[in-house]
Amino acid sequence: MGWSRAAILRVPGSSSVHPFRSTVVAAVAAALAGVAGLGLLSSALSTGEGGSGGDVGWLQPAARSAVVGADGLLHAADHKAASDAATAAADPATAKMMKELKQAHLQSMPPLPVGHLFDRHPGYFTVHTGKGLASGRLLLEVPKAVMDTPFMVLAQVTAGDAEAFLSGVPANTVGRTVFALRKTKGHPDTLDLYRPLMDLRAEKADSPMAASLREGYFPGWVRTFPVRSIGDSYLLDATPWVGGGMDVVTDNDGRPAPLSWERGHRLVGATAYPRNVELDVQMKRRSLDGLGESVVSPENTFSTQVRYSIVALPDKPMETRAADSRVGYFGTSFVSADAIDGGRLKRTFANRWNLANGPIVFYVDPTVPAEYRRTVKRGVEEWEKAFARAGHPGAIRAVLPGDKDWPADYSMGDARYSSINWAPNLGPAYAMGPTDADPRTGEIFKGVVVLTANFVQSAASDVNVAVSPIAKDAPAGDESLWSMESDELQMRARSLRMLAALAADEADDVDAVSRPAVGPSTDKANGHMMPMVGASAAGVMAAVIEQVLRYLVMHEVGHVLGLRHNFKASASMPFAKLSDKAWVEANGTSSSVMDYLPMIVRKNPADQVVYASPTIGAYDYSAIRYGYGDFKSDDARLALAQSVAMTTPFATDNDGAGVTGADPLTSYWDLSGSPLEYHAESMAVARKVLRISKASTAKTAGSPWLDFGVVAQDALWSSVLSLAYATKFIGGVVPSRAASTGSPSSASSSSSPVTLVDVATEKRALSLILRELHPRNGLLGSATVREYGAHMVARKCFGAGGAGLPTEQCLGVAAKPLVSELRTFRGRVLGALLVPSRLARITEATVLGGSRRGLTVAALLRATTATFFGAAPAPAAEVDDLQRDAQAQWVGLLLNAVNASEQHHPLAVAAVAGELSRIHAMAASAAGEDAHLQGLAILTAPFHF
Ligand SMILES: [Zn+2]
Repeated sequence: MGWSRAAILRVPGSSSVHPFRSTVVAAVAAALAGVAGLGLLSSALSTGEGGSGGDVGWLQPAARSAVVGADGLLHAADHKAASDAATAAADPATAKMMKELKQAHLQSMPPLPVGHLFDRHPGYFTVHTGKGLASGRLLLEVPKAVMDTPFMVLAQVTAGDAEAFLSGVPANTVGRTVFALRKTKGHPDTLDLYRPLMDLRAEKADSPMAASLREGYFPGWVRTFPVRSIGDSYLLDATPWVGGGMDVVTDNDGRPAPLSWERGHRLVGATAYPRNVELDVQMKRRSLDGLGESVVSPENTFSTQVRYSIVALPDKPMETRAADSRVGYFGTSFVSADAIDGGRLKRTFANRWNLANGPIVFYVDPTVPAEYRRTVKRGVEEWEKAFARAGHPGAIRAVLPGDKDWPADYSMGDARYSSINWAPNLGPAYAMGPTDADPRTGEIFKGVVVLTANFVQSAASDVNVAVSPIAKDAPAGDESLWSMESDELQMRARSLRMLAALAADEADDVDAVSRPAVGPSTDKANGHMMPMVGASAAGVMAAVIEQVLRYLVMHEVGHVLGLRHNFKASASMPFAKLSDKAWVEANGTSSSVMDYLPMIVRKNPADQVVYASPTIGAYDYSAIRYGYGDFKSDDARLALAQSVAMTTPFATDNDGAGVTGADPLTSYWDLSGSPLEYHAESMAVARKVLRISKASTAKTAGSPWLDFGVVAQDALWSSVLSLAYATKFIGGVVPSRAASTGSPSSASSSSSPVTLVDVATEKRALSLILRELHPRNGLLGSATVREYGAHMVARKCFGAGGAGLPTEQCLGVAAKPLVSELRTFRGRVLGALLVPSRLARITEATVLGGSRRGLTVAALLRATTATFFGAAPAPAAEVDDLQRDAQAQWVGLLLNAVNASEQHHPLAVAAVAGELSRIHAMAASAAGEDAHLQGLAILTAPFHF
């Protein structure tokens, strides 16, 4: 009876560890000889029930210590004996289980990386890529020495489909990308993949909380790999891991990747280096929610290629530098577990490069068109000036394809190379600069700058490229212009078209304007602008594109260096200096390129000294010094931060840079410390663009009125944005990040961190806004309709979706309903004016300001009503329907505000009700036979007083 014999695990030679040799043959031999489980299973399968073992002599008879009962099952003579492995195999049920376990184990075991099936790539993890029938299989050899050593898994799109997935952008949908492997406790042949705890740390190893953390924390596991031991490594089959997105790429709704390897992924290349492993995977991903008409395939999936990089973290963690809210660095934060002394719990380090590892090098990817590469290089190397001043000359440079130090093994996505990529796209023009940093210290080790080709093409676009719904699904933490309000997405394209229209005034060849050549010609290779006057339109456009590209590269590279946005930076620049060529070339158009700086379009050509900021600014120098300079003491570093707050202040994405934010100096797309002057000039530019574009279209045979329609729309929209931003001065509040200067005088305004916009500036802003809203003479008034309405035609498209998509046919032409469009524009400005947070701020300012006699909500409403009605309603014959339109719109907005009273400050609600009552009285008394005024009186009747 076989039951008396059992499998005692005794493997010949198992006590000796075979030294690992570098050939696959040696690995196979080592595995066969050294892996106990394999020997056992081979034997078990070949001999059925445990095997006699006679041929190999592995199995020995065990002591007879149990008997088979009448039921045919093994009954232990004693409990200990029954549980003994020596007797277990004799029991049919136990043997069946063992057989199943062994088969399952065998099925999960990684195959050996034999040479005729796998190619070997030695590296941090040695990679074996399958070939022939094993094609698509991926084996990794993980050194036993790196157990519990954190590594990162990066994912980057390296070939996109131009709409949903752009080459160069991060592909990971999961923020926590640090992993480690450990031997599974209690299981001989598996490794656990887990995410090491990074967000909660014990700073002092001997603190009571550190001990508590050690006792109480369980890191869990993400997945388990069956492995076999080969010398000093574990061999594992990574095929299903990669197919599942390596636990960093999930489906777009955030669920773990549901697409199986078979259905949605294929490995197309892999290699390894001493500190990183590189895997190329093509995958199908499901369409983004809301992408709607942009879904291009009937399967509702997109195909894309992703580079995964497994990257060793630095052996020696970089020395950290504390972040400071006065100087804007991206940060790495954790909560200190042992700070139980009442101190602050959260620690944040500035993310920065470790210059001890040598200079920061950007590789200009071959996707960047050759004609732009030198411009891109100049944009990168502008930052060298700041490093030089911070004591690190030569700390940053760009390498171009073909340069002698261009790496032979370069590829996009390789974790060793930071790159600048050029992505073809159909959607909005944008750029981004994401980085990867050591979560322990904030050490940045890789950055990517992605520029979309569309920013060049959008100038020449014959349609307004629609804002893609993809914007909603932008990856968290990205730095794209997706974060802007959608109105502003087309800012650059609008400015480009307006510049082109202005240039047309000077140029003979109008066709060259509407279809500008985009390459800078050699006479602009030194980066200086081409003066607009006398230049060809194509030449202007080439200069514009070169300058804007250089600015974009400076901005995105700034992100890769660790810098956050600084939306207050432009406020440090005096308005008058914007037309001082020497000043601008030395100092830029803003104290930082980390602001969203508009393309500059000046009314007076003599003021047009640049189109975009040509260099980094004073804040940028200080910020680089803060992050990278050497300081004798912490006090010296803090003194620098304080001086930044006092001279070139910082404000960022959380500071309300949109039109409803409180601080009028912290805004996207404005310029100078006197934004009202900038906005006022923008209105003048818009009028000029309308006038010139209409005239040049009229006088040039063959010039399409459709193009005038686009440019006119650009001019009006940019005016609306200017007016909307001007509203920020009404009830504006300017906070400061500067620490107390130690001056005890509370009477001194310089010692308090909150400043209200002064009354004169507030009034100036309101009069600018109301002047342009004037229903007769304002830019949004009937004079504009009379002058341009009969010349504005627009394309009408067949099919839904973005107008920029080639699937749409836009052969239709319609007259633009300018009166209706102006109502929409007016509604934007009035909506910004009446936003609940603004009315609340105005109300608070009247208390906070004390003797300051600023605008009240009632005065604001009264002035606006007067703009639309006049001091008293005029006789019907003197009022046109656009004015009536504006009056009805204004009444409607006030009624809406009262209806949404729970959103508004109580005093604002009362003021609005009072204004409606005033309007009612005015309309009722003047109505007579005027049906319009009668109607307004009826609408406002509930407020009859
Ligand atoms: Zn940015």
